Amino acid sequence: MKTQIKPITPESLSEAKNIIFDGGVVAIPTETVYGLGGNAFDDRAVQRIFEVKGRPNDNPLIAHVHSDYDLLKIIDYDPPYAKKLREAFLPGPLTLVYPSTGKVSPYVSCGLQTLAVRIPAHAGAQAFLREVDIPIVAPSANISKHVSPTSAQHVYEDFEGKIPLILDGGACEGGIESTVCDVTGEVPVILRPGLITREMIADMVGVCEEYTPDFKSGEKVKSPGVLYKHYAPRCKTLLFGAEDIEGALKTYIKEKNMGKRTFILCEESLVSVFKTAGADTLNLGSTDSEMASRLYELLREAEKLCDVLIAVEPRKTDGIMVGVMNRLKKAFGSVDVKH
Ligand code: AMP
Ligand code: MG
Repeated sequence: MKTQIKPITPESLSEAKNIIFDGGVVAIPTETVYGLGGNAFDDRAVQRIFEVKGRPNDNPLIAHVHSDYDLLKIIDYDPPYAKKLREAFLPGPLTLVYPSTGKVSPYVSCGLQTLAVRIPAHAGAQAFLREVDIPIVAPSANISKHVSPTSAQHVYEDFEGKIPLILDGGACEGGIESTVCDVTGEVPVILRPGLITREMIADMVGVCEEYTPDFKSGEKVKSPGVLYKHYAPRCKTLLFGAEDIEGALKTYIKEKNMGKRTFILCEESLVSVFKTAGADTLNLGSTDSEMASRLYELLREAEKLCDVLIAVEPRKTDGIMVGVMNRLKKAFGSVDVKH
């Protein structure tokens, strides 16, 4: 199969629609990362997405709809606080998990009675969703466990020859996946941190909890996806705490002396420190949103440049940085995850 990258035009949207209604998958841009889209009502299309990504079959998918789509077609209950969150943050990088009507394919939620729904803000995603006018499941358009894609080229690198069409909407501004927030209970509960922070949600509706999974306890996890090793670049990765600049530098020198192509990924304020010491660096940026938007791009670049990638954790750890740290730790395999 030839994989084509096309700008978003009436012609490419119509081609994408034909592929979707034929049970195929199309990669689409969003403001977070690129998604691998398929018809949420079509069992075959949903299964195809799991297959082409190599995604574990207990990791449910998010249904994406345009901003005028009638959510009550697919969700069973819409609590007033969820409505408030939608008005405040959607379209945008927030996914809400509702009780499902069971209308979409049972493969979407992997047997759960809930459905995760998102309304992306990206103009290209909206144009595509309006064109098809059905819910589209769209997990990140990367091979499972690999770094998420923030450009059409990233998607091409993972899926060349495996999907027919990539709609090119430019580089993703957000850079990390949406915040996933459960709204099936009395209060919102964050299942995956992201650009819409716990503080922003709590400010809007008074309260917001955060779910920390513990798969060793045998408890059935609320959001299976959070348990998997994710976002990993294909090189050796070593993560150091924000205070351990010396440790990072010592390790850099050791790896370099062994002939390994080695880089240090760090926030902007440390770049000159490492450069002065003679190290090659990758600059994560200085603001929270800059670090979120550059992370995956740099991890993809790193796997081309490096045998060994050393990262130093950013010093700031609240707000958006909760999401950035979550992805960084998973990419470096330094959290409790299934492999
Ligand atoms: P991705 O599409 O790769 O960004 O991953 C989707 C994320 O949403 C994963 O972490 C899933 O576990 C989570 N998710 C999707 N559907 C549900 C659901 N019904 N309940 C809880 N979490 C969900
Ligand atoms: Mg993903």
